[in-house]
Amino acid sequence: MTKFISLIFLVLFTTKICCAQYNENFGSTEECYGKTFSIAAWVLTDTTNSIAPLDLSQVLVAIDSLNQKFKGICVDFKLCSFDTLPNHRQDTIEKGLHDEEIAALYRKKNVINLYFATEIINPNPGANPAGYAPLGSTTIPNDDNQRDAIFLKKSEFTASVLLHEIGHYFGLYHTFESVANGEEFADGSNCATAGDLICDTQADPNGSNTGCHLDPQVNDPQTNLMFEPPVCNIMSYYNNQPCNYHFSRGQLDRMLSIMKTGRSYLW
Ligand SMILES: [Zn+2]
Repeated sequence: MTKFISLIFLVLFTTKICCAQYNENFGSTEECYGKTFSIAAWVLTDTTNSIAPLDLSQVLVAIDSLNQKFKGICVDFKLCSFDTLPNHRQDTIEKGLHDEEIAALYRKKNVINLYFATEIINPNPGANPAGYAPLGSTTIPNDDNQRDAIFLKKSEFTASVLLHEIGHYFGLYHTFESVANGEEFADGSNCATAGDLICDTQADPNGSNTGCHLDPQVNDPQTNLMFEPPVCNIMSYYNNQPCNYHFSRGQLDRMLSIMKTGRSYLW
């Protein structure tokens, strides 16, 4: 009996040690999660599949890139299905109108569903997007049709687009977010509560850039410092840099936290 009790203590003690690294406020160190997420790909086509076709190899290359970028937290992704849906009417998606209908018709539950269309129309003023995804949070969303639906435009599909949308899906804001949480100052003093809520991605005014810095430079009126935004970050809109696009450690930690909470239902 004594032996049994000490065994329990040992187990409890070991559990405590193993998980002490993790910090609920996105401040974890090098945690290894060890989870594989499944992806279902749905390619909407015109009846002849002649307009901007998309093939399996493009999706596999992009998933490979996901696996490289998520290695740091021991997370990977596997393609569980790849289906073509010949339906000309649905090949052009109007955001907020056709997306729900498509997701209701074709959907695998508790996996990440990617829908590829020839065109995505944004009914609000602004450019038509290359893709969009529901923003993850620490709360499990209602099980509606669009909960796990990511929409992507075939002709603009690249590994970077998928990485960016998966970032949103696991709760990342743009590095230049200024509406949802307010503006982040160039000195980073409010980094935990403003901008993208991540402190190792510098404040980003989303200007234009050449080389590795803003051009022209932008001054932050709050701090009188020049912005030095993270131009090689996947969640920025600086997408023509000769650099290795990456998630920061803080972004990986935030995604990890959301994988364990608001996306914990995923298989
Ligand atoms: Zn985005």
